[in-house]
Amino acid sequence: MAKSDEPVSNNPEASDVLLPQKLEENEKAMKLVSEMLAGKLADIRPQLDYSSDLGFTYPAVEQILGIKGKEVVSILKSLSDKAVLRKDFFERLLRCPKCQAINLRPTTHCPKCASGHIDRGRVLEHFVCKYVGLEEEFVIKGRYICPRCQVEMRTIGSDYQSIGLQRKCRDCSEVFATPVIKWRCLNCSALTAEDRVIEVNIYSYSFNEAKRSWLEFELKPKLQLIEFLRGRGYEVTENATVKGRSGAEHSVDILATRDDGIITYNIAIGVKVAGDEIVLGEIFDFDDKAYDSGIHDKILIVLPALQREAEKFASQQRIKILEVRDLDTVLTSASQTAREVKREPFEFESRSKLIEHLRQHGYEVKEYATLKGRSGAEHSIDILATSDDGIVVHHIAIGIEVAAQPIGLDKVFDFDDKAYDIGILDKALIAVPGLTPEARQFAQRQKIRVFEVEALEPPVEPPLEPPVEES
Ligand SMILES: [Zn+2]
Ligand SMILES: [Zn+2]
Ligand SMILES: [Zn+2]
Repeated sequence: MAKSDEPVSNNPEASDVLLPQKLEENEKAMKLVSEMLAGKLADIRPQLDYSSDLGFTYPAVEQILGIKGKEVVSILKSLSDKAVLRKDFFERLLRCPKCQAINLRPTTHCPKCASGHIDRGRVLEHFVCKYVGLEEEFVIKGRYICPRCQVEMRTIGSDYQSIGLQRKCRDCSEVFATPVIKWRCLNCSALTAEDRVIEVNIYSYSFNEAKRSWLEFELKPKLQLIEFLRGRGYEVTENATVKGRSGAEHSVDILATRDDGIITYNIAIGVKVAGDEIVLGEIFDFDDKAYDSGIHDKILIVLPALQREAEKFASQQRIKILEVRDLDTVLTSASQTAREVKREPFEFESRSKLIEHLRQHGYEVKEYATLKGRSGAEHSIDILATSDDGIVVHHIAIGIEVAAQPIGLDKVFDFDDKAYDIGILDKALIAVPGLTPEARQFAQRQKIRVFEVEALEPPVEPPLEPPVEES
């Protein structure tokens, strides 16, 4: 028989293409899963229904989702591909290759001439003439008379023998034990040989409990997190693909990006909700991917909690760890404290305007901040801006260089070095009147956001401007 594991199509590739990441379908799938998680729907069983397109339906799913046929099957298949649902064999259906109907009836045929005109009964053989026929052919007025030679057969074993229950073709006289089976379609009447009938397995589905914790994250906290980030002005991409410096492509579970005008933030959020223990190697992989992608804001959402050494590594690598069960609390309290973020393009006009811009964008600003570096040296940063997103704290080091000539490499190098020593990775440099080409190239390589300004306006800060608050 033609083997096909696909309930819908006998071309698995064609139906696969339709499945992944179709938004509407995904919403439906989530709804179905929510119902199952809540225990409102247990097993999903098919029901045969010759009047439907496929010949079977999943009535409970149709009722919950308001969709039919192939759409239902495609959602169930994608959920079982993701191991959210477990599928169990329910029944094998035979489908007519001409009209796709599933109501086929078996018919028996002669293996020699394919005629359907065959009879079944006890078969006798007359030893003398070798005639073989059904018992009824021999019976004449209560005696056995051979229809070929007209001789009466009296004694079983010496005149004739019985070769048991067999079939005999009325058209070609062939006697045989096993007829050939063909299938008659009751819808279009086509007769199909057994090996050309399409065989389709249909399944019942049940919820895979091993996926419960993962789903409980996917369905609620994840959406909460995404909503939270969007509320903070981030663009959020799920299953984002990021090209690393090594040339490798990395997949990031959730990538949140925000351009503040001064700095573009990228947060890589990894989700490790496995149900099993999360081991160091997985965190190392996540960190490695983020590093290669040039992303230094890293959050890892975990369930269950990390092992001790994994936790230690995470904190060394400045990976913020959030446990799923804490997420709700963290986001709720962050929502209360964090400010709504306005997004405006930034153009450098003056130091005071810059500070105003930063404050409007929720930053705490420290001017001429003195910070101790890892080397032990103390560094002064023109402006240190800090903002707490509720889940990520951003520090920006801003340097302001003003000279008569374009700013050279040495100054940019110094600034970058200072920032590195104090461990600040988000860097912006305001250069009046611009940078030399080498300095610009270096800044770009070191991911320093540069604002090249021809001249300050007003050239000198007005002396009577109210002093900027120190925090
Ligand atoms: Zn005979
Ligand atoms: Zn025949
Ligand atoms: Zn048919």
